[in-house]
Amino acid sequence: MENELQKVQDKLSATLDALPDMLFEVDRHGRIYDYRAPIEKMLYAPPKEFIGKTINQVLPKSVANVITKAITQAIEHGRHVGSIYSLDMSGEKRWFELSIAAKGDPKNPNCHLIALARDITKRKRAEDALRVAEERFRSILESLDDTIFTLDDRGVITYISPVIKQNFGYDPDEVLGNPLSCLLAPEDVQDMEMCFKHAIAGQFKSRNVRVISKKKQVRYVKFSCQPLQSGGQKFGFTGTITDITSDKLAELKLKESEDRLRQSEAKYRAIVEDMPNLICSFNSDGVLTFVNNAYCDYFQTGEEDLLGTSFLTLIPEPSRKTIWDTFTALNLQKPTLSYNHQVILPNEEIRWQQWTDRALFDQKNNIIEYQSIGEDITEQKKMEDELRKARDELEAKVKKRTEELERYNTEMERFVYTVSHDLKSPLVTISGFLGFLKIDMKAGDEDRVEKDLELIYKAVSKMDLLLSETLELSRIGRVVNPPKYVPFDQLVDEALGQTSEKIRLSGAKVSVAKKLPTVHVDGTRIIEVLVNLLENSIKYTSEKVLPKIEIGCHVDEDDAVFFVKDNGIGIDPRQKEKVFELFYRVDNDYDGAGAGLTIAKKIIEVHGGKIWIESELDRGCTICFKLPIA
Ligand code: ADP
Repeated sequence: MENELQKVQDKLSATLDALPDMLFEVDRHGRIYDYRAPIEKMLYAPPKEFIGKTINQVLPKSVANVITKAITQAIEHGRHVGSIYSLDMSGEKRWFELSIAAKGDPKNPNCHLIALARDITKRKRAEDALRVAEERFRSILESLDDTIFTLDDRGVITYISPVIKQNFGYDPDEVLGNPLSCLLAPEDVQDMEMCFKHAIAGQFKSRNVRVISKKKQVRYVKFSCQPLQSGGQKFGFTGTITDITSDKLAELKLKESEDRLRQSEAKYRAIVEDMPNLICSFNSDGVLTFVNNAYCDYFQTGEEDLLGTSFLTLIPEPSRKTIWDTFTALNLQKPTLSYNHQVILPNEEIRWQQWTDRALFDQKNNIIEYQSIGEDITEQKKMEDELRKARDELEAKVKKRTEELERYNTEMERFVYTVSHDLKSPLVTISGFLGFLKIDMKAGDEDRVEKDLELIYKAVSKMDLLLSETLELSRIGRVVNPPKYVPFDQLVDEALGQTSEKIRLSGAKVSVAKKLPTVHVDGTRIIEVLVNLLENSIKYTSEKVLPKIEIGCHVDEDDAVFFVKDNGIGIDPRQKEKVFELFYRVDNDYDGAGAGLTIAKKIIEVHGGKIWIESELDRGCTICFKLPIA
């Protein structure tokens, strides 16, 4: 029996020795009766320092408290497992897990207890490292703006980072246990499932989907996931939900504004393309970068042939430098300018254009290019030229007319003065001789009466002549028949016919030049001139020579100059202008009113001609005049 017991004790002792744990036996007050460990190193102190002493005496207070509490529990329940304590051993902290069991009846006041302290330092360190790592991982996860999730293999949320509240308004607890799809816009669930499929197949692709926030707002997110696996076993997914709403909205806005820009550019382009004005853009070398349809049509050249070439080649050489200087002078202060210039069309026609150039600047105020809008102003230019010409002509006409009027006025004044003066002289004669007549009649002096009457009669005739010549003169300006082409000889013949009797009586010899030109005149009036001149030549003959009259024409500075030349008394050169004045007479011994040359001058001038005298005293007189010829 004793042998048997010894055997059991030995077996137990061997078993205990085989245990990796530290073992000690205590009573209920914590006094240590046995104390051993498989390796010395596990011991806090050598057994001799422990045996017979209480736990409170040999161990640090905090450890002693844990063990005492565990002993109390073991006494109460028969055993106790799981208290953990740590000890600083040879400079390092070691952790132990305590299991205590009563040896025999725990109610017995002498009952001893066996305590096993297992060294769990390694496990504890691993657990701590895991906890730290997990803590670190969690804090990283939770500091991210992206919502991180884990799902089980059915897609049910098993973890979601708290930032979901901030991002989408949900409390993590609200969504935990629900399928992730419940957060998404229904139309995008399929996309998310595709993402899972790809993830399982090892293709980690992200998808843009929409999350519906707690406030039912659409948030644009980037969704990505990958499978969770352990030991080659896939057991769910982990992934991120990145809120890209602001990027997406910005992108949508950008797209919208790009669309708007594109539309307005298309609109602008359509307007520019179809505008009747010529529109082009060119760089600082004058090389065309854009031309509209009107531009191509105008220069009868295709867009592809115009772009890349300098517009200056379309401009006549002499103007090129001026145009170059003009557009290169544009700057920020003066970005636009209008100017006119000529262009050469492919058919070599030269036309006028008006252009308005505008320089375009970049943000640094450097010129990027020039835009120009132009139109053909050839017709306008022609009209302007014609208008200018017409205006100049009108001005010249007005000037001439004004001069004529001024001359006419002066003439009129002189005329009125002369008429009233010259008419007065016969009137004075008449009135004087009427007085003598009365006296002579009273005296019964018949001879004197006869003489008085004769003088009165003469004065009346003179007055009659003056009045009829004045009347004739006044008619010239008003009554002019329309001009006709008529050979000058015909007019000469008619004038000679009208004066034939006087010529015959004077014995003058008249010669007329052959092949006289045709004139464009009022014939009646020119005959009147010729008659006047012929009568003067007959009247102012010299007694020294036989009267000779010559009618002819010579060419002077491309103009035909007609003349009536006689060999009479001639006119003093100093009187050459005066004799054309009304009623001016050089010598009163000859009959006449002094209006003949005035009338002739008037008629010639009405025809746009000119009359003058080439004469010297006693050497005959030549009256010259110019007339419009055919
Ligand atoms: P009228 O002959 O009636 O005097 P005119 O006007 O015809 O008036 O001529 C003006 C003046 O010019 C004349 O008075 C005369 O002195 C001078 N005259 C005109 N014709 C001649 C001429 N052929 N030879 C010389 N003197 C002339």
